[in-house]
Amino acid sequence: MTRYADFYRHSIDNRDAFWGEQAALIEWNTPPQQICDYSNPPFAKWFVGGTTNLCHNAVDRHLKTRADQPALVAISTETDTERSYSYAELHAEVQRMAATLQGLGVKKGDRVLIYMPMIAEAAFAMLACVRIGALHSVVFGGFASGSLASRIEDAEPVVVVSADAGSRGGKVVPYKPLLDEAIALSAHKPAAVLMVNRGLAPMDWQAGRDHDWASLREQHLNASVPCEWVESTHPSYTLYTSGTTGKPKGVQRDTGGYTVALAASMKHIFDAQAGQTYFATSDIGWVVGHSYIIYGPLIAGMTTIMYEGLPTRPDAGVWWSIVEKYKVTHMFSAPTAVRVLKKQDPSWLKKYDVSSLKALWLAGEPLDEPTAQWISDALAVPIIDNYWQTETGWPILTLANGVEQQTTRFGSPGKAMYGYAVKIVDESTGEELTGPNQKGVVGIEGPLPPGCMQTVWRDDARFVNTYWKSIPGRLLYSTFDWGIRDADGYHFILGRTDDVINVAGHRLGTREIEESIASHPNIAEVAVVGVADQLKGQVAMAFAVAKDASGLDSEAARLKLEGEVMKQVDHQLGAVARPSRVYFVNVLPKTRSGKLLRRALQAVAERRDPGDLTTMDDPAALQQVKDLVG
Ligand code: ATP
Ligand code: MG
Repeated sequence: MTRYADFYRHSIDNRDAFWGEQAALIEWNTPPQQICDYSNPPFAKWFVGGTTNLCHNAVDRHLKTRADQPALVAISTETDTERSYSYAELHAEVQRMAATLQGLGVKKGDRVLIYMPMIAEAAFAMLACVRIGALHSVVFGGFASGSLASRIEDAEPVVVVSADAGSRGGKVVPYKPLLDEAIALSAHKPAAVLMVNRGLAPMDWQAGRDHDWASLREQHLNASVPCEWVESTHPSYTLYTSGTTGKPKGVQRDTGGYTVALAASMKHIFDAQAGQTYFATSDIGWVVGHSYIIYGPLIAGMTTIMYEGLPTRPDAGVWWSIVEKYKVTHMFSAPTAVRVLKKQDPSWLKKYDVSSLKALWLAGEPLDEPTAQWISDALAVPIIDNYWQTETGWPILTLANGVEQQTTRFGSPGKAMYGYAVKIVDESTGEELTGPNQKGVVGIEGPLPPGCMQTVWRDDARFVNTYWKSIPGRLLYSTFDWGIRDADGYHFILGRTDDVINVAGHRLGTREIEESIASHPNIAEVAVVGVADQLKGQVAMAFAVAKDASGLDSEAARLKLEGEVMKQVDHQLGAVARPSRVYFVNVLPKTRSGKLLRRALQAVAERRDPGDLTTMDDPAALQQVKDLVG
């Protein structure tokens, strides 16, 4: 057995001993009395009786040893600014923010909604909340007023923290009018609104309700706000899933389990050392932003980089220039971002010295082999796929290189991570599929490990019914993803359970077909959906973005490329997988977090109502699809 195989077995067979050891990675005010209370499944309580604080572990803990080391570097290529905060400075800023929030009436257990662009104050606000035991609910900046209003109603925040504006591609996006509209729409009214004024957009001021951060900060320059020691099970935050498959779910996370899980992941998965630099290109509005822009790297005593801007502005070399300048050791991004770069001149990736990088981790969507190969060749650093969900807070499948160096297999996010009892099960019988390469639903046996969701915010019944009741005959957490495990324990995610296409009795994963199409040299990106068909039940339909679309104005050229793509699928997967049509589009419809909205594509292709589109990024994308399928 390899070291990792032993490590994994220990985590499953000796659960409490394993997590008891991991608990020592963080600082507790009172040590836990019980490692896991699973007396009321599927609700798990981790580190019961322990008291700790997330902000203490992310900030205060490091003051003894690294007060002057940069903790947070906020870089904006939108406003051309770079601001660096040492741990001591971050500590001071967080206390100023905490005192300000307390002054506005926030107490332990209250919610604070954060609707912010990627600026340092957003990090201060998150850390300030958990410092005083308040729960943050970060809503991705740029969501429109309707989506924001429903989140305000759900979270019922005492205070909303926001800014005058964000900026995207050089265009100022005012936030305040959207926020004002959302509050007007919402049945719940926050007592106060705290605004960071970046001087980007004028603001209408509602006296009595709206407060200016700069002036309140001045009043609290020397604020000293101690960390509130909270129960391990005290919720730290709520956060919504991306809404790819329907209405987003409000994930509620604990404190102690999450802190331990992140500390453990920094060590075992990322093999990170204090003093190194972590650059995650996500947004604080998503789970990657929570776990690996803010909390994980800070808990590990690293320098974390927060980036506002596009990967292609001022040019497609901007991320690599940051890597060079800050000697980034750990970089985390998403396949969708790599596909954006793939459409640019590859020489940008060679222009900077990226030798400081230990690896590039990618997550959020299937990482197709051609894309993985492309970025791997271009950067010449290890590319590590990792598979997880907002619900879990940290990777379910990846490589734990901190435990044992393992080789990447392109197309696979890797092995089950310690603590996760990952099962591949038959969707209709619930039977566990233990043989290699058997296709089934990816499930996790309870208790979910530390760091995973406690429940759906204010809806225990939805937690149980949504996640734990879909596999017949057993209480098993369903990821709603479809996958296989090979003989060496490497997993492959084949798509969402909804995305399985049934063509004349053959069950095909959209992912397999996409992978095949993406290996055509002129395809940058592709989405495959199943479309109802009278004869075959369902057929595959593909929507593709060409790398070089310049020749595709003519019908003949489009048909030629379509024919090539179909032939390739025939050759690689067989005629049954061949899409009935391959349509060429400028962009694919995606969520704001950059995920393919397959359900919307499918609905439009079947001329149905696409449903909840509040998390969609660019409506023009879906319109083009509508026009094409007629
Ligand atoms: P919603 O649950 O609201 O429909 P969502 O599932 O997209 O949205 P997230 O929690 O952001 O919300 O995404 C998790 C999902 O993303 C996974 O269940 C999986 O489908 C997909 N995913 C994430 N990482 C990977 C990966 N490395 N490979 C394949 N799929 C991935
Ligand atoms: Mg999901």
